[in-house]
Amino acid sequence: MLSAPVPDSGSAARDERQWRDAQIAGRLRDVEERIRQASRRAGRSRAAVTLVAVSKGVAVDDLRAARRAGQVDFGESRAQALVRKAQGIGPGVRWHFVGQLQRNKVKDVVGRVTLAHSIDRLPLAQQLGQRAQTVGRLQRVLVQVDLATTRVAGRGGCPLDEAPQLVARIRDLEGVACEGLMTVPPRDADARSCFATLRALRDDLRARFPEVQHLSMGMSNDFELAIEEGATIVRLGTAVFGPRRSA
Ligand SMILES: *Cc1c(COP(=O)(O)O)cnc(C)c1O
Repeated sequence: MLSAPVPDSGSAARDERQWRDAQIAGRLRDVEERIRQASRRAGRSRAAVTLVAVSKGVAVDDLRAARRAGQVDFGESRAQALVRKAQGIGPGVRWHFVGQLQRNKVKDVVGRVTLAHSIDRLPLAQQLGQRAQTVGRLQRVLVQVDLATTRVAGRGGCPLDEAPQLVARIRDLEGVACEGLMTVPPRDADARSCFATLRALRDDLRARFPEVQHLSMGMSNDFELAIEEGATIVRLGTAVFGPRRSA
């Protein structure tokens, strides 16, 4: 016997989901095209730039949508969110830690992330190295450099003039490998000159330490400039997932 179709209470939620998925896929296509064009302008290969989709403030369903659209690298700025979302999305993605790292959260990050972008002091690097050795890993890290001319409490990053020594000292540690530099330009600074400064520092360091390769720089509002100035990793939140409701 045929029964009448049951009214589907889930269909509104499904429509909403499909709309979000299509939006995220569309934004990723748009970002991909912009990365491609910026790389071309700079005479660089598209393959030399990794897009990290920064998922802070973003629900796991949206991460899955990005994953289905082909996105592999994801970034989080809080250890707790990293643990939860890494469990939620499962295998097949690479995680990056991009936020300020408290020492009691080191255990949540080591071994879980392909790259910790925001290492700005020696004790933190030491602790990462110890934890990495305990779990039998090598933790790849970047040194975060603060290019502000005046130090602001709470801003991440080691001062520019201290960065070479920090990189050199991390090099002597077991369990961690410093593979480059990361920065977030200060709000009032000229982003392009910040990116150029970080690149010059990377070039200097790379001459002595060949493994210091990466430049993690460029966010949603300045990633094309960063690519023109040599970024090998751009970290995009808003451009991929849309405006954040919370940080
Ligand atoms: C939030 C965040 C991003 C992404 O910012 P958008 O402007 O949304 O692209 C990148 N890097 C770090 C360190 C962040 O905290």
